[in-house]
Amino acid sequence: QKRTFVPAVVVGTGYGSAVTALRLGEAGITTTMLELGQLWNKPGKDGKIFCSTLNPDSRSMWFSRRTKAPLDTFLWLDVVNRDIGTPYAGVLDRIDFPNMGVYVGRGVGGGSLVNGGMAPTPKRAYFEKMLPRVDADQMYRRYFPLANKMLGVNTIDPRYLEQTPVYRYARVSRRHAHQAGFKTTVIPNVYDFRYLQREERNQVPRSALAGEVIYGNNHGKQSLDKTYLADAVGTGKVTIQTLTRVTAIRQDKTGYVLTLEKIDASGKVLRRSELGCEHLFLGAGSVGTTELLLRARETDALPNLSAAIGTGWGSNGNVMTSRANHLWDPTGFLQSTIPTLAIDNWNDPIHPAFAEIAPLPIGIETWASLYLAITASPERGRFSYNPSTDRAELHWGATQSNPSIATARALFDRINRAIGTTYRHDLFGGNREFAADFCYHPLGGCVLGKATDDYGRVRGYRNLYVTDGSLIPGSIGVNPFVTITALAERNIARVLATDLRT
Ligand code: FAD
Repeated sequence: QKRTFVPAVVVGTGYGSAVTALRLGEAGITTTMLELGQLWNKPGKDGKIFCSTLNPDSRSMWFSRRTKAPLDTFLWLDVVNRDIGTPYAGVLDRIDFPNMGVYVGRGVGGGSLVNGGMAPTPKRAYFEKMLPRVDADQMYRRYFPLANKMLGVNTIDPRYLEQTPVYRYARVSRRHAHQAGFKTTVIPNVYDFRYLQREERNQVPRSALAGEVIYGNNHGKQSLDKTYLADAVGTGKVTIQTLTRVTAIRQDKTGYVLTLEKIDASGKVLRRSELGCEHLFLGAGSVGTTELLLRARETDALPNLSAAIGTGWGSNGNVMTSRANHLWDPTGFLQSTIPTLAIDNWNDPIHPAFAEIAPLPIGIETWASLYLAITASPERGRFSYNPSTDRAELHWGATQSNPSIATARALFDRINRAIGTTYRHDLFGGNREFAADFCYHPLGGCVLGKATDDYGRVRGYRNLYVTDGSLIPGSIGVNPFVTITALAERNIARVLATDLRT
């Protein structure tokens, strides 16, 4: 079998990968990026690249016949999820494990294609607690500001926030939080808020105001393909192979050998091949990277990998809930899909929570306040390798979500008491008030300082690195991509200065 060789390979095109590829390219190192999903740049029959949450089609989901949106039902009706026809290489994937569904983005840009763009920097004290061996001074002085600048983080004009109907839902929830004695905060975002204002004035095509988010945004959002990845390709040293799955990694005399599977958008395997490299950077996301390394360890391809691989996984304490407002508190029928406010109760000694005020952008008045809370759950899951399926399986017990639910309940019970409201029971299936059996923020599996050294170098092997969310030990207290980006910047700076000196 003919095998090509490149100096550096980066697996995945999410945050960790995009940072790494740009810095490798700038250093003059020829780099190949391998991405399972598509390059999202060709409009479909409707002239749009992505479909909206209100009218999803096959572009929405990664090889599924039906959408798997986080809300199951509305008014107990099965109106949220839709049949979407033939399975296709769509942009959002939900990886279902027992008791936990993990949402991830598929395509050039990884999670940046599907996420809500919220870009908070973690509280320093909690960052230091979770990653005690990382120099926080350096992170907060240098790498967090760098990540914010590179990602195009901006904040909403406060005057606009106060008067626009598209954030009425946020203002209503903020008022309720304040009445219950909680603090709120504005969350920065990579969605261009000036673009949003022009959307509202009908000066530009709508995206945040057209129900676009988890299946991609056609406009407004500075996803990685428009920032880091564009710059990386612009160095002339970085190329991206799409619809390419890395299935195995092994070592030989020249370095690492990857087994690749090239598919088409219908999932048909077009060919299998091998690619050799000297330096290998894994940025396939928390589940993807952990699976690749676990498989390599358990099949004896890389037998010296640490026992810590597959451990320290968490959902960032994600839990969703919704409150039913009084009729005199409408939340608005036109809602921006891009959240901009959060309830910040992180300093609570018993029940720390950071709860984003989320939209319910279905085009009608719902009187619902929706939240995605991030809680400081101590629970961690672990992965094992199943040889019969060749997949990594997450072990997460149903009761492991209870601490997150208890924290969210403490917060929202207090708001409900203060306002005289109740929870909605019609949204998450089974009449549940809370949903903590899925997450948007998978973190850990190859934890920094455990499965790797303090800079993401995988223990037991030279020139093998982890660069994504799997480095973060299960919880970071806020939405994670700014942290993943800043940490990747810090790690690649060190690796370039020491391991890759040219
Ligand atoms: P990812 O971004 O997950 O990228 C990994 C890439 O690797 C993917 O493109 C994947 O297709 C590819 N890959 C995986 N396996 C393979 C393989 N075997 N071969 C080749 N390629 C592979 N975070 C925030 O901070 N703010 C938010 O507002 C926010 N909202 C979110 C909303 C949704 C719906 C989702 C799903 C996530 C959200 N997140 C948010 C989380 C955020 O997007 C992730 O934390 C982030 O994308 C993780 O970055 P990463 O570098 O670890 O990997």
